Amino acid sequence: MEKNNKIYIAGHRGMVGGAILRKLKAEGYTDVITRSSAELDLRDQNAVNTFFETEKPEYVFLAAAKVGGIHANNTYRAEFLYDNLMIEANIIHSAYKTGVKKLMFLGSSCIYPKLAPQPLREDYLLTGPLEQTNEPYAIAKITGIKLCEAYRDQYGCNFISVMPTNLYGIGDNYHPENSHVLPALIRRFHEAKMKGDPSVTVWGSGSPKREFLYADDLANACVYLMLNYNEKELVNIGTGEDLTIKELAGIVKEVTGFEGELLFDASKPDGTPRKLMDVSKLSGLGWKYTTALKEGIEKAYQDFLSK
Ligand code: GDP
Repeated sequence: MEKNNKIYIAGHRGMVGGAILRKLKAEGYTDVITRSSAELDLRDQNAVNTFFETEKPEYVFLAAAKVGGIHANNTYRAEFLYDNLMIEANIIHSAYKTGVKKLMFLGSSCIYPKLAPQPLREDYLLTGPLEQTNEPYAIAKITGIKLCEAYRDQYGCNFISVMPTNLYGIGDNYHPENSHVLPALIRRFHEAKMKGDPSVTVWGSGSPKREFLYADDLANACVYLMLNYNEKELVNIGTGEDLTIKELAGIVKEVTGFEGELLFDASKPDGTPRKLMDVSKLSGLGWKYTTALKEGIEKAYQDFLSK
């Protein structure tokens, strides 16, 4: 990928695509193209075909997806499966038909079996049943990986797949119900502080463990792998470090300056007990994250306040 190549970022309005766009611009890439969902509905096969045939991008970051936290995944099950399957199938097939030089597909750590050994190695894919709350999303993302592999096998396309861990950062979705845990807690603790509430309720038992990566770090890793990785096997992108939801809530409490109590609502699902990435492959390729969790949460809190 050269600085003057034509690069298409699918999903640039999202947190991940936005971070990739900032990174490419900062690195001096001059021909980055984007479309909002109003301009191009990625679920529409004809529209996607026409876009690729007209624009002929040389490199593609496939960061477009319907995403959300445990509640959204579990509630909008049909949309999470249909929208994501259509987006992936349309883009990957059009990329093949129009001779895209390289495509990066972004998946998720939820593709791994619910009770897989920890940390999650890339080769645990399809070795056991998935977590029920996000099975539709995971099935769609697994299909995306398999599309990349199949188009490589049959047509020789250089399509690679990367699996980011839980992400947070600039431009996150702070919806009270549909967002992921970190933005949800940032909003809840902030609002409780402003209202002077005595307590904040955290969903589930607080004991599940999760790993978190700052979205700009993910973008750095994506650009790094676009430049340096050309294999069929997927690559995990994470920090390799996790913490309990209770510990996470403690950090958000500190960063937002809320001084009340923490309560846990056991009627809400815990989801997968643990989701820690094995990042030895990524380390072997020469990449490591730079933003410490607390520093990242401070930046995310500033982003939330700026809305
Ligand atoms: P997951 O990693 O796919 O399970 O997605 P989430 O980020 O939505 O949830 C991670 C964990 O945080 C789960 O155990 C949730 O029950 C827990 N959690 C605690 N409070 C919240 C909250 O306010 N919103 C969300 N989405 N999750 C929460």
